[in-house]
Parts: sequence; structure tokens; C-alpha cells
Amino acid sequence: MTTIYSAQWIVPVSSAPLAEGGIAVSDDRIAAVGTRETLRQQFPGAELRDFGPAAIIPGLINSHSHLELTAMRGYLENEEHDFFAWLKKLTIARLERMTADDLNVSAQWGACEAARAGVTCVADASDAAVESMNALRAVRLRGIVFQESFGPDPRLAQENFAKLQAKVTRLRELETALVKCGVSPHAPYTVCGPQLELIARFALLEELPLMMHAAETLMEVALLSEGRGAFADGLKSRGIEWQTPSASPIQYLKQHGILATKPLLAHCIHVDGADIETLGETGSKIAHCPKSNSKLRHGVAPLTKFLEQGIATGLGSDSVASNNVCDLFGEARYALLLSRSGSEWKNLDSDLSAHDVLQLATRGGASALGISEELGALQEGMQADFAIVSLNGTHQLPVYDPVSTLIFSSSARDVVLTVVAGREVYCDGRVTNVDEDRLRARIKEIGQKLAADGRR
Ligand SMILES: [Zn+2]
Repeated sequence: MTTIYSAQWIVPVSSAPLAEGGIAVSDDRIAAVGTRETLRQQFPGAELRDFGPAAIIPGLINSHSHLELTAMRGYLENEEHDFFAWLKKLTIARLERMTADDLNVSAQWGACEAARAGVTCVADASDAAVESMNALRAVRLRGIVFQESFGPDPRLAQENFAKLQAKVTRLRELETALVKCGVSPHAPYTVCGPQLELIARFALLEELPLMMHAAETLMEVALLSEGRGAFADGLKSRGIEWQTPSASPIQYLKQHGILATKPLLAHCIHVDGADIETLGETGSKIAHCPKSNSKLRHGVAPLTKFLEQGIATGLGSDSVASNNVCDLFGEARYALLLSRSGSEWKNLDSDLSAHDVLQLATRGGASALGISEELGALQEGMQADFAIVSLNGTHQLPVYDPVSTLIFSSSARDVVLTVVAGREVYCDGRVTNVDEDRLRARIKEIGQKLAADGRR
């Protein structure tokens, strides 16, 4: 059974845009890419679905999300000037206020938002990985859910590691062809060195993908390089011994075996030339999260340096608690404009183009997740993950170059169809596999509960 999806434009990303083009989809694969007419001749019995003034693009890949935190969209605005307070309020809400069902609803609502935004695959870091995996399965998105591990106290490293192993055993049972699990030692300031080493060895042994937050804040740098600042004070007040490594976050992660796993690292804002070289040499990958970085006042990551170094780099929304939307068109546009702003030495003379950032949101993400042979472009034989974006809006017309229109004029709200492994997960204005009305009612309820707790 073959279906031809066609539109005014097809943007395969791995090759030039094609007018009046389409893709033929058989089961979960792309059977062919070409003009509408050639495809009709090639597949005479196929159903034709034509979307008119629109562009067919590869499914967008969100390289860094926290779906379980979707209920905290807008919840932490008052804490944004103080990342320590921000993290604390978030952690209390997640651990003490939200039930397992709340977390599942929150993750499902985030997965619905992603499906509506043309996102077909997410790299999701989660403390509630069972709920996040179940959410991806329910909406039928593709993804890797990285079980988070915490533990700054070296005395508890072994115990915390054993907990992580037990969780991974459970997550393995939830894996499907589309949804896989991985591990995530949360950050250099929340996981001690010995625990980082245990997790890195485990990831290599079990062939589990590993992701981690790295070099996100100056507080993290101050802790690692000089043993001072809010994170250092926090550890001290909890009676946790901290031996300052006098290293940058990236060199510290290398010392503790994390970079040997070719990890996916989120943020990488505070890195110098030597760090970038190290990232390149070790085959580390980066989830670039420009909007979250700006919203939380963390700084500007040197995107063009990453790309010059040949580091596999994708775009991440981060959680909507710090964004506040999952919209990779917006993320790509912001990444591009920021790279041209020249406010930092790192970003002067950027010659990035609209095509380059569309590439980051698709093929770059696939490379960062280690799945670029199957995903990230529209090519014969690849998985049929794609989105169709209307180009007919007031804010988009006229269209001279579809890639420019996608990056500079379009948003997640222009997506009209999202397909994962050949199956439509967002179509005719609704997410097809879950009851969005029920989720909408529940997410409002959770929001009211968190708001009431916050006032107490
Ligand atoms: Zn994050």
C-alpha cells in the first residue's frame, strides 16, 4: 500500500527544494522522492494526497526536551533571575506536588505539542522516564528517553547508581521500534565524579545512549574551577564534601569518562577553544538550546564554532518551563539571528543561512542522536518521518524561496500534517492517537494545583 504526499514544494534538506514535488510512502519507509507527475507514473495505484501551497519537510528533531515538565510552562518566571531558586522550585513541584498521573499527562501534553509542531522525534531527559516513554508511545512519536540520575554526595554514588540500573531494567521493557531509553547523569553540579564514572561505564557496557547538561551556567564553571558560588554553597549547606577539580566543565567530564560515551551534551555555553576541540576529538554531540539559554540569562553558545569543528549539533527547545514553547522553526530562527548579532566574540562574522539552521533542526538532530542513516532527510529508503507546513498564510506570502519562508516567516502553528514511520500522528487539526480534550482539562487542573501550592 503506497500513498503519495505532494505539495507545491518538497524540501528534502539533503538535496535542493523541488517544485510540485512529493514523496511516495510504503509502510514505514519513503519509497521515492520526486515531482508529483513522476511519482504518479511510478506508482499508478497509489492514493494521492495533495496539500497545495505547502512544503513537505523531514520530521523535525527536538534534541533536548523535558516533556514531563510541560505543566510548568510559565510557572517559574519569577525565579528566572536566580537559577538556583528556579531549579529548587521546579524540583519541589516535580517531586512533591505532581503525581505519577500528573507527570504522564504533562508529558503527553508536551508530546501533543511536539506532534502539532511537526516534531517527529525527541531526545527527552526525564526523572519520570516511565511516564515520558508512555507519553511518546501514546502519541506515537519517535524518541529516546534518558533516565536522569542525581547524586552529588560521593558516599551515595553506589546506591544512586543501583537505583538507576533498576530503573533502566524497567525502561527496557517499555522500548518499542520507535521509543528507546538512555541514561542521563543530570549535570556536573548534581552528580558526583564517582557516580559519573559508574554511569559512563554502564552506558558503554550496555550500549545505552547518554545525555547530560554541560557548561550551562557561570555558577557551574565557578564550582568546578574555583569551588565557589551558589552551587558550592548549596553543597556545603547539605554537608556534602566537594573537591574542586580546577577544570572546565568539559575537561571535568572528560576526566570522569563521560566523553568516552560520545554523549549528547545540552547547552555547552561556557566553553573555550580547547573545550570545543575536546568535544570534536571525542565525538561528543551538542543540543543547542538558544532560546532557553537566553530566557534563563545563561549566555550565548558558540554555535558557529561547534559547526566549524564538525561537531554533530541539533536544536533543542529544552523544557517549556524555560522557552515557553516547543517550536523548532522559532528555535532555528532565533539561533540564526543570534549568530548574526555579533554581540560576542564567538559569534562575529557568522555566515549561517536559513538552510543551515533547517539542517540543524533535521539532519543535525539526527546526527546528534546517532540516527542519521534513517532520519533527518527525505530520501528513498529512509524512515517516513515528515511534516507538511502550510505556506499560504498572510505572514508567509509571497514565497520566493521555501526555505527562507520556513525559517524567517513560519512557526509550529503552520504545520498541517505530521507523520511518524508512515503513520499520521497529527492531521486535520488534531492529534490522532490521544484524547486532547481530556488532556486539556487535566493540564489546566494540574496548573491550578501548582499555582495554588505556589501561593501557600
Ligand atoms: Zn535540560
